[in-house]
Amino acid sequence: MTTAPVELLNYIGGAWRRTASGERGDVHDPATNERIAYVPLSAADEVDAAVRAAHEAFPAWRETPVTERIQPLFKLKWLLERDIGELARTITRESGKTYAESEGEMRRGIENIEVACGMPIMIQGWNNEDIARGIDEHLFRQPLGVVTAIAPFNFPGMIPLWFLPYAVAAGNCFVLKPSERVPMTTQHLVRLCEEAGFPAGVVSLVNGGKPTVDALLDHPLVRAVSFVGSTAVAKYVYSRATANGKRAQCQGGAKNPAIILPDADMDMATRILADSAFGCAGQRCLATSVAITVGDAKAPFTERIVEDAATRRVGSGLDEGVQMGPVINAQSKARIIDLVGKGEAEGGEVLVDGRGRTVDGFADGYFVHPTVVSGVDPRGTLATTEVFGPVLTMLHADDLDGAIALANDRTYGNQACLFTTSGAAARAFRHQVRAGNIGINLGVAAPMAFFPFSGWGDSFFGDLHAQGAHGVEFYTETKVVVERWPSTWSRKF
Ligand code: NAD
Repeated sequence: MTTAPVELLNYIGGAWRRTASGERGDVHDPATNERIAYVPLSAADEVDAAVRAAHEAFPAWRETPVTERIQPLFKLKWLLERDIGELARTITRESGKTYAESEGEMRRGIENIEVACGMPIMIQGWNNEDIARGIDEHLFRQPLGVVTAIAPFNFPGMIPLWFLPYAVAAGNCFVLKPSERVPMTTQHLVRLCEEAGFPAGVVSLVNGGKPTVDALLDHPLVRAVSFVGSTAVAKYVYSRATANGKRAQCQGGAKNPAIILPDADMDMATRILADSAFGCAGQRCLATSVAITVGDAKAPFTERIVEDAATRRVGSGLDEGVQMGPVINAQSKARIIDLVGKGEAEGGEVLVDGRGRTVDGFADGYFVHPTVVSGVDPRGTLATTEVFGPVLTMLHADDLDGAIALANDRTYGNQACLFTTSGAAARAFRHQVRAGNIGINLGVAAPMAFFPFSGWGDSFFGDLHAQGAHGVEFYTETKVVVERWPSTWSRKF
């Protein structure tokens, strides 16, 4: 059954507003290609209105005790739990992932709210009494002012929550710019922020694309920019934000390797790596994209992963039993198919071919089935380019050192995983491999909310990562106070 597309709005200074420019984009359900919403494409004056409203709200919010600032977050957690089913369905409709994946994503987002509710402790400073006789020194953390986050399409529920809870609990006012491809979940999230009782201007929403981002990057009242998306845009956002004197933390793309040693539990490694490579249709920044077998691991792992890829149930993420949904849009599907073709042209053998396969009842959906390609050139296009689709490239090495060298031969550094039963191998791997998030017998090593999301290399531009203590540092500036209070009174004790 088709329904009329929803008209989405911006949320500025505590009021829901249509875009004044009248410009809007279409939002499609990737499983059906049905148009499900219109998203405002906001112009610079609307960004200005949102930033000014946030700036006006800042003095009072900053003066609000941290114990009071976290109260709307406690309520927001409860509201998200209340609406989790509806939110998960919206995520599935606009991004294509399965309902279970969507619900899991919301849970990981909620964890960040729970951690940020500890802000009374996390924002504490340091102090030393008597750094010289009768002189004390203190470090305080103070909020920056107006901060913004620019989000990608692949986790519309979770990624805004990597930033929002820490930013507002630390006393900042937050302007969110979701991906124009998946703006419906964020609209729901911001409605819940309103219901949770944040004062007007503390949380704002401006929808749009590149011009909206540029207006945020250039606005003199925006103090800090958090970004998650592709590497090319992450680099651009980082350069422009920092050139404008802002703090920036910009998470980029990935090409994650996983090494399988012969002593690994092959059934477990296959189950975990199939989920890592094909879960969320491969559209996770922590998806394993390159599997490197070592020595005798090649035959048993290849046999099992081929079997899994060929039998994975692909369909609409809202249908029971479906293990993998569509990719986000037609361009993405075309790009994935093109990259597999390049891998073939570079000498690769396509062991499982997900190109050109359809899903019954969803002829217009953007489906690519799981694909496994072996024997590709390790320096070639398929082995080095982010695919962001359900494609696993297989490489092979004679020993662990050779496999680590292959894993390190890439510019990205989001994640690297190892499958083994040897503690010594695991220790050597984690010590030598160049990536910021490491999994041992894990395929998606997503850090908990109280650890930083530690991308390296071309997967991250900046110093302080998202989540936990890094988030608190990013959203506060330190003020050091040295003080002397001349008195004879205290010397009596
Ligand atoms: P994207 O770079 O196309 O878009 C991300 C955001 O930037 C969107 O809000 C978009 O509107 C905006 N944008 C796009 N082009 C822009 C431009 N030229 N100038 C200014 N702003 C622009 O990314 P995407 O396709 O939405 O998301 C997928 C990418 O995100 C993948 O590369 C994936 O690896 C990456 N990602 C990384 C992480 C991580 O933690 N490192 C997490 C999730 C996704």
